[in-house]
Amino acid sequence: MNFIKFLGTAGARFVMLSQIRSSGGIWFSVDGTCFMVDPGPGTLIRAVNSKPKLNLDKMDGIFLSHRHIDHSCEINLMIEAMTEGGFKKKGIVFAPGDCVFEDPVILLYCRNFLEKLEIIEEKRSYNLKNLKIEIPVKHRHGVETYGFKLKTKDIIISYIPDTEFFPQLIDAYRDSQILIINTVLYEKKENVQHLCLSETEEIIKNIKPKKAILTHFGMTMLKNKIWEKKDQISERVGTEVIIANDGMNFEF
Ligand SMILES: [Zn+2]
Repeated sequence: MNFIKFLGTAGARFVMLSQIRSSGGIWFSVDGTCFMVDPGPGTLIRAVNSKPKLNLDKMDGIFLSHRHIDHSCEINLMIEAMTEGGFKKKGIVFAPGDCVFEDPVILLYCRNFLEKLEIIEEKRSYNLKNLKIEIPVKHRHGVETYGFKLKTKDIIISYIPDTEFFPQLIDAYRDSQILIINTVLYEKKENVQHLCLSETEEIIKNIKPKKAILTHFGMTMLKNKIWEKKDQISERVGTEVIIANDGMNFEF
């Protein structure tokens, strides 16, 4: 069974720092390939306490969308977990160049544990065991940020992490059957490089995936009880919309 497990759904500094929602990463287990995405604070503890337990030493890779701490905080821990404390050289870490060269979040000693450290760039694609990871476009988020289109045996699953809205996002992630979108804001806020609900709806309406999963919630999304608006949103966009919660397991 393929599944995606949301260890955390926190989306902004305050929600992360208060842990109103957990800030663990997203675990993918697809076509016999396992990898962790954006391992924020709490990823390790959420993973070992999840039921069934996630075997982190089975990870084939880790994908880091950008270096902000709510996404990158436990990257080194995950490298240690994947490589059995560094005793087994394996796994690929996918990360933007600035996470490695400019303001490094991946420790030098941990890099030696990896089979490969892949510096991701837009319009390129990479292999991870049985999967193909395509990076369609560079996001607009202050620091270097990328999402992915995951090409599995049967479908395309896309992850749109933090970004401000720009129209090319829609073309970049077209053809996705499952779309995961970090939607931090309930209403648009000027000079904040995050998607708000209406922008996310615009993306879904144009891409028309089979299912869209919203996650990475800021305070305004929680205050407005976004989970209670699931049906209205689904109706507006013409796609089944799922509001992620901590520990949610999405099977397909
Ligand atoms: Zn960010």
